[in-house]
Amino acid sequence: MQDGTTASGAFDTDVLILGGSLLGVELVHQLLRRSGRAMPRFTVVDRLAKHDYIPLCHERLTARLTVEESTLDTQTYVTSHGGEYVVGEIIGLDPERRTVTLASGRTLRGRTVVVALGSDVAPPPRISAEGSSGRGESAPPTRRTEHPTGLKFARELAPVHAALLALGDRAARIAVVGGGISGCELAGELAVWATDKKDVTVTLVQRGERLLEGLTPFVSRAALRVLKRQRVDVRLGCSMQIDADGTARIHGHDEMSEPAFDLVIWSVGVTPPPIARTLGLSTDAQGWLRVSPTLECLSDDAPSALTHAGVFAGGDIVQIYEGSTPIRAMRRAIEAIVQAGAIAKNVLTLLGAKDEASGRTALRVYRPLRDFPHGVSLGARSLLVLGPICFDLFAFTVWFRRFLMWRYLARYAPRR
Ligand SMILES: Cc1cc2nc3c(=O)[nH]c(=O)nc-3n(C[C@H](O)[C@H](O)[C@H](O)COP(=O)(O)OP(=O)(O)OC[C@H]3O[C@@H](n4cnc5c(N)ncnc54)[C@H](O)[C@@H]3O)c2cc1C
Repeated sequence: MQDGTTASGAFDTDVLILGGSLLGVELVHQLLRRSGRAMPRFTVVDRLAKHDYIPLCHERLTARLTVEESTLDTQTYVTSHGGEYVVGEIIGLDPERRTVTLASGRTLRGRTVVVALGSDVAPPPRISAEGSSGRGESAPPTRRTEHPTGLKFARELAPVHAALLALGDRAARIAVVGGGISGCELAGELAVWATDKKDVTVTLVQRGERLLEGLTPFVSRAALRVLKRQRVDVRLGCSMQIDADGTARIHGHDEMSEPAFDLVIWSVGVTPPPIARTLGLSTDAQGWLRVSPTLECLSDDAPSALTHAGVFAGGDIVQIYEGSTPIRAMRRAIEAIVQAGAIAKNVLTLLGAKDEASGRTALRVYRPLRDFPHGVSLGARSLLVLGPICFDLFAFTVWFRRFLMWRYLARYAPRR
């Protein structure tokens, strides 16, 4: 693996990292930490040059947190450490040649490739007049809603922020759809934003019978209590209905007796990015990339080899498989960060091996985290969730999560 060329041509870089968000940037950090002066050549490709701090995007939405204080200049961090940073849209990958193609027509070839293209926060595929707001429902489509959809990076946040401002001081009804962690955090944040606004109501619409369905009923009840105390109107067992003319109402209640919503924000559904299916790598039924416990990409075409040599993936985009069994792993920042360390080790092992075959047998197996505490910011209050129980810590978690953001920005500060 040590040779920089092959019969079919030279490599542009040693480590080609596709995606420079949480996994990508931590991978650079880990490679630098582990290889010191012998740092391999590395290139990061992402459509974004800067990255917003995703866990606090609800605070960005209401401008409680400014863009300046919550944005990472990823490109400058990478280039300050001698890496190449390419801003561009990835449209294809040839895993055998380890060559990526960008929309600009440029191609880049790596001795190793790491796919870290994350996930999408997708709106429901269809919003039906019959009141279907969930994914995978087959009710007849009317049209896509014009109300804003999932939030993650600045390009999704900006139009929703503008829509909030456009409400001005008039009486307004805002709905957040989805009672998972992001939806609850968003509803709580909007409740804080609406405190000094006359006649603005915030409604949280959840299809299930409880909030935070991924956590225990005890935590669900605590979240419900905290949100209600801040006058969030929580509707359980309901779904949002968007009519053909864009009118938004809750389905499942006495719809016509309530005025329509002025703004609906969708906070449902983390889905694989559509590009995952077009990379020539194996995907599962949902569309996540299938990787082995060494975080190498699995191949549908090469049952004997099973994995694509030198092609790794991690973060939200992957589902780890042991044989044909999926292994539970969280789609969270902490999981991406820990995976980045494991991938860095394996990439360096492969690059340092005398040949590919011996390098691959020396790769380490990654064990996903079992669980990790959750800090759930609910507007002016917050919960710290430890397994089955939680503590209402007033605003402590809100500030602690800001502290974590400062640590994140400091960790990837450009070298001076
Ligand atoms: C609203 C929200 C709140 C969250 N809060 C928390 C939290 O509090 N705590 C926590 O632990 N986790 C949280 N998460 C989850 C966490 O953000 C993800 O687990 C983490 O971002 C995964 O990192 P990643 O690098 O795998 O992918 P992503 O962060 O999704 O990054 C993927 C990168 O790939 C780039 N990309 C994708 N496709 C292309 C393409 N075709 N061409 C070029 N570039 C491309 C994107 O621009 C992006 O930079 C939250 C997620 C969301 C959406």
